[in-house]
Amino acid sequence: MRRGLNYRKNNERLYVVATPIGNLNELSPRALEVLKEVDIIACEDTRVTGVLLKHFNIQKELLSLHEHNEKMMSLRIVHLIKDENKKVAYVSDQGFPGISDPGNILIKEMLKQEIDVIPISGPCALINALVGSGLDTLHFYFHGFLSAKPKVRREELLTLKKKEETLIFYEAPHRLKESIAEMLDVFGSRRACIARELSKIHEEFIRGNLEELHLLTENEKLKGEFVIVIEGTNIETSAIHSDEDILRYVNSLVDVGMSTKDAIEKASEYLKVKKNYIYKLYHQG
Ligand code: SAM
Repeated sequence: MRRGLNYRKNNERLYVVATPIGNLNELSPRALEVLKEVDIIACEDTRVTGVLLKHFNIQKELLSLHEHNEKMMSLRIVHLIKDENKKVAYVSDQGFPGISDPGNILIKEMLKQEIDVIPISGPCALINALVGSGLDTLHFYFHGFLSAKPKVRREELLTLKKKEETLIFYEAPHRLKESIAEMLDVFGSRRACIARELSKIHEEFIRGNLEELHLLTENEKLKGEFVIVIEGTNIETSAIHSDEDILRYVNSLVDVGMSTKDAIEKASEYLKVKKNYIYKLYHQG
């Protein structure tokens, strides 16, 4: 076991600073103080961070650490902190580093090298979306981005279908429509919310059920950045599966390229319904 306070006796630390997801006033006074105090700011994209720092009149040496060089740059940052006695902070393009953003490999490397990690609080899109959605905040599950591969994405959604916690997804604008359609197909019409342009001028919470959100995204091209929040399953009502549910489940797997045999096996395992029953249902229906 290691206790963080031991590390704080020396000056070997990395500040992991959350930055605005929209409104620039979201940068906290403490974050500002840290960014002013450090010698070097490592960041995901020097252009994005450059704009933020210019706004706050901060001039610092910038180092680029992104998803394709994170391991290598983490070692460089270890060297800067340990051998050159530099004070370093890391910021990603928006929100909290490490949350669907680079930062996690860096943090693990710091801890491995016994360098303390100090997170500086700030905005995180999933929290704004969850709180504003009006769905259950007591228990929630953050999935981040679904896979871009149709088969993997479908399997991810099928696994999540069982969860009772409120589900939270990040989604790219060009995939929003397809994702909502697929979520409706897999989850059925649960309560849901699209949180759009959080903390920006056009912030909007579109609350309804998945069927309504599907209709909306089919007919209107929503602009901006999005978080999708969906109600968890209600086990009491989801324990019994109609023949229609069973067939929908099998077909959804066959549609993304799974063989009929594998899809029936998977459905049997997941829905706890006998393989023979599903086989007959599928081939007679
Ligand atoms: N690290 C960030 C955080 O703490 O939230 C997330 C970065 S991730 C690369 C970017 C995704 O976060 C976007 O595709 C979107 O799903 C979500 N996001 C970030 N800012 C947002 C905003 N202002 N409104 C809605 N969603 C946002």
